[in-house]
Amino acid sequence: MNDNSPRQTSQNYINGKWQDSVSGQTYPIANPAHAFQIVGEFQASLPQDAENAIAAADAASNDWANVPAPQRGAILYKALDIMARRAGEMAETITLEEGKPIADAIGEVKRAMNIIEYSAGEGRRLHGYTTPSELPDTVAYTIKRPIGVVALITPWNFPLAIPAWKLAPCLVSGNTVVYKPASGTPLSAVKLVEIFEEAGLPPGVLNLVTGPGGSVGNTLVEDPRVKGISFTGSTEIGTAVTARGSELLKKVQCEMGGKNAAIILNDADLEKAVPGVVQGAFGSTGQRCTATSRVIVENGIYDEFMENLIDQTKALSIGDGMNESNDVAPLSSKNQLDTVLRYIGVGTEEGARLTFGGHQLQEDKFADGYYIEPTIFTDVDPEMRIAKEEIFGPVLSVFKVSNLKEAVNISNNVDFGLSSSVYTRDLVQAYEYINSAETGMVHVNAPTLGGEVHLPFGGLGSSGTGQREQGTEGFDFFTETISVYIDHSAGVKERSRFI
Ligand code: NAP
Repeated sequence: MNDNSPRQTSQNYINGKWQDSVSGQTYPIANPAHAFQIVGEFQASLPQDAENAIAAADAASNDWANVPAPQRGAILYKALDIMARRAGEMAETITLEEGKPIADAIGEVKRAMNIIEYSAGEGRRLHGYTTPSELPDTVAYTIKRPIGVVALITPWNFPLAIPAWKLAPCLVSGNTVVYKPASGTPLSAVKLVEIFEEAGLPPGVLNLVTGPGGSVGNTLVEDPRVKGISFTGSTEIGTAVTARGSELLKKVQCEMGGKNAAIILNDADLEKAVPGVVQGAFGSTGQRCTATSRVIVENGIYDEFMENLIDQTKALSIGDGMNESNDVAPLSSKNQLDTVLRYIGVGTEEGARLTFGGHQLQEDKFADGYYIEPTIFTDVDPEMRIAKEEIFGPVLSVFKVSNLKEAVNISNNVDFGLSSSVYTRDLVQAYEYINSAETGMVHVNAPTLGGEVHLPFGGLGSSGTGQREQGTEGFDFFTETISVYIDHSAGVKERSRFI
């Protein structure tokens, strides 16, 4: 391997200052499309760096909580303008370090901007409610208060949108932040923090510490000054974070893995359904928490669906995400490549039929990257590991069923419950599915992907725990609701005694 690319060293951001880690060590990040190309060097931080960041966030906490929410929102509007100015650069950064196609990265920047805009406006709406008191001359109402210092711990697959959808409501709600991005995608994080710095956040309100989850992330979970943890990542780590955070009586919100299914019924419009499944399964190289990893097809439409599915999968162009003509880019890391290849092996050993793809791409133009063919398994049994475990790559399992009931049983036969979809023209079947799907998000005649920032986002079971992100519910996590009773009567009055 030959590294001729420039190496820029990024720093942590603590108490309004960019600074090196106390470790004095950095680590490199490579471009998944050309693994010899180093994107940059980043601070290999130690627990001490996380503690310094927590101290800064703690010291800034009172002052920031006392800034009126509309003024906090005004800073977000400035951040929005700056992000609009830097949108192209942000999208290229995402593709450079995560690998996804540039069109997906542009969509991710747009998503980040939408949540910043939505949250900024919420600064004028962070309302509680008033309600009649059971006592005379008494006013009863609720207010929302910030939690205090909040740790944001994020994954690599949406290195801008996920941090933004935590950060924006968290800041508007009046909390201070220590942000630990995934070790694999720290450059988007550095640029996101630069944007908020330029927008005028006071020192200490937002702090960034890069470095390993096992030390930096763990310190954030353990430190008593951190009152809330908003985590997105794997179910394995999220479960541990939830258990420990809850034991320490912190507020914890964890968004985790998925095993999302699309159901194609006999009356489905295949012009919608096939591209929806192809996009859901292979878009962003299958590395979305909402990716379609299972498709459940009613037998009357199965052959036609499969023929179209394979034709459209064959037509996908694979290559460097920076090239706009490519639909499928590399996996994000060697680790991801190894995991996905391992699961393809598991599927074959379990007896599923490898109907399309399944191989690593290694010829010349792919030689330096982590490329794999979009892969389709048929004859999949619902109890197989590939049918139940999150693979997090471009691997689709296909099931054939006789009716909606059977489809629902397979769709719900997993521990995960993030997103699902059904393709049908029949309202009766669509509503039946909506009412029986065990997922936090349900789509009809649309892919399992995505969502809009003013609706809650999150899953059931192994896909999520704690309050939902985004929408008005997103603000419930980042605030405490306080009940206020004001007795404005002239004299002493009789009070009930039951509590
Ligand atoms: P991950 O390995 O669980 O890591 C997530 C974050 O946790 C990273 O910042 C990681 O740091 C940190 N971490 C690791 N060990 C920790 C510890 N002991 N204490 C505290 N933090 C720790 O997940 P990932 O591989 O980055 O992300 C992929 C997963 O995210 C998939 O399962 C995907 O489905 C899920 N995801 C879910 C959603 C959703 O909304 N439901 C959205 C996107 C992704 P390091 O990077 O330094 O290890």
